[in-house]
Amino acid sequence: MEDSARGDHAFTTEGLTGVAYEPFYAGALSFLRRKYSRDLAGVDVAVTGLPLDTATTQRSGARFGPRAVREASAMLAWGPPYGCKVSPLDRLAIVDYGDCQWDFGRPMEVPAAIEAHIAGILRGGAAPLSIGGDHFVTLPVLRALHKQHGTLSLIHFDAHSDTWSVGDDAERIDHGTMFFHAAREGIVDPAHSVQIGIRTYNPEPHGFQILDAPWVHRNGAAAVAQRILEVVQGRRVYVTFDVDCLDPCFAPGTGTPVCGGLSTATAIEILRGIAGVDVVGADVVEVAPAYDTAGITALAAATIAYEHLALYASRPGAAAAAPAP
Ligand code: MN
Ligand code: MN
Repeated sequence: MEDSARGDHAFTTEGLTGVAYEPFYAGALSFLRRKYSRDLAGVDVAVTGLPLDTATTQRSGARFGPRAVREASAMLAWGPPYGCKVSPLDRLAIVDYGDCQWDFGRPMEVPAAIEAHIAGILRGGAAPLSIGGDHFVTLPVLRALHKQHGTLSLIHFDAHSDTWSVGDDAERIDHGTMFFHAAREGIVDPAHSVQIGIRTYNPEPHGFQILDAPWVHRNGAAAVAQRILEVVQGRRVYVTFDVDCLDPCFAPGTGTPVCGGLSTATAIEILRGIAGVDVVGADVVEVAPAYDTAGITALAAATIAYEHLALYASRPGAAAAAPAP
């Protein structure tokens, strides 16, 4: 309670665990009011913003995503996710690691900057939770994780497959081609990866398992979760959540919305249903606040990111963090 009296929990807190009682409308922002810090000593998960939007095919604006998601997350920071067996804020030591920085005038240097930024988090002994930024950011994050963990299974929520290729030019910075390259580079194993909510045309699945949006609607969240667990089979996984997986009525604030998507409730239920997967990295991407209405997309993304933390907390052997001082 002393923290709430001080306010600005992001800077005044001394602990890395526990909920933060601070008014939604006040105080310095950080993700879920976590301590804003680059000190990774004892940290389990580092939340970081990757504010890129120059890889978008159509409407840009996702560079403002991390800030909007931090603001929306202030509404969630006072308690654990409803119905969660283990509160991620009690179980895990989490910091807001701030945003990755780069020179906007040197766009070709962005992938290396993001990869180095994530490698720094891994070297510090923490796992990353990234907030986009357009979906391209996931490729350099995966490259960094691959060096530590080897080939990964991808659990990919999206309206789009993001496996379109433009020739085989791995240097292109494009938010629609990353998983073609990730599979080709051996970073992810498509046969043990699954794409959920797809509803845009791509004649070539490139070996990825696909549970498209109509399949999700017909079969429901429990069946989706079961199928995901069958596909990843205990392998190390990366969870990437493009917010346009959600229907535009739940997430209008994104660059390439597509009708016929998942509800926020279904997405939460699927993520709850895969508790216990061996998650080594996660993200939420493509929040573009300029197209949002009443902040619902940012709130959905903050909620999904909170569920990602719950997934981390559900890992077998997830550390029980030291109690807050
Ligand atoms: Mn998409
Ligand atoms: Mn995408």
